[in-house]
Amino acid sequence: MKIRRTAAAAAVVLALTAAATACGGKEGSAGDKPGGASGEEAPKLPEYSVAKDVDVDSPVVKAAQKRGKIVIGAKADQPYLGFEDQATKERSGFDIEIAKMVAADLGFSPKQIEWKTVDSGARETAVAKGDVDLMIGTYTMNDERKKQIDFAGPYYHAGASLLVRKDEKEITGPDTVKGKKVCSIVGSTPLQTIKQPKYGAKVTELGKYSDCVKQLIDGQVDAVTTDDAILKGYAAQNPKNLKVVGDTFSDEPYGIGLKKGDKALQTALLDSLEAHEKNGDYKKAYEATLGLSGSDYIEPPALERD
Ligand code: GLU
Repeated sequence: MKIRRTAAAAAVVLALTAAATACGGKEGSAGDKPGGASGEEAPKLPEYSVAKDVDVDSPVVKAAQKRGKIVIGAKADQPYLGFEDQATKERSGFDIEIAKMVAADLGFSPKQIEWKTVDSGARETAVAKGDVDLMIGTYTMNDERKKQIDFAGPYYHAGASLLVRKDEKEITGPDTVKGKKVCSIVGSTPLQTIKQPKYGAKVTELGKYSDCVKQLIDGQVDAVTTDDAILKGYAAQNPKNLKVVGDTFSDEPYGIGLKKGDKALQTALLDSLEAHEKNGDYKKAYEATLGLSGSDYIEPPALERD
């Protein structure tokens, strides 16, 4: 644990340094505050202005307004995406920023967000039962899930990939996992993908990504499969021991999960995503989170409106 923390800290420092170097010379744009150190700053998270007098005809929003808090389901063990620092309880990552953005447009400041950690297999139930108002956690929009809930998105496009130990030579992509032990997560789409007989993998199913990664480091499994964005975060956190191999082999468009039939909330979320994609917050947020794990920035996919 200690070793991993140190490696993680080193990786973050390295990434921040690299990012700061890459940004060198771009200082001095109109939005810059005076007095900042020139050229050496890491990408900064945007600040989102909190909307006032929000009127969205949604029972979920009305209940949240009454409560004075919006309850958002998130992941806690995905570095750069949805991460909770166990010491400070602080949440960070790209999905956390997406959550703060849309919450601000619904009238809730970061302090008015109540975070609930929801693992992959529990998401639809948490949204459908109303345990969370929104679910924002590497959540692939698909028809199966749309039977139970609705989505607003997609706001990011990921794809299944493979995480292996640094010294792994045989596993180079999905065509090389025959007979290998591959770990993935209950209730996740990459688990369904890797279970297909054509891959011939011996699949281990666990509840949390961090448990799969631990088994990989300990040598109990040969690979972990899930979205490339998640795996790159683990590799960046532990670059001495882990690497991501091969091309992506599934489509994973991320959406915000919300209660089925809440059209007004869905529209408000889509409008919010669109506005932040247009005003540059989205890109800024990306560069200050997921971008630090080595995933190049790509323009967001077109939002689905029907
Ligand atoms: N995006 C995939 C899914 O929604 C995998 C990541 C996850 O488990 O959150 O199932």
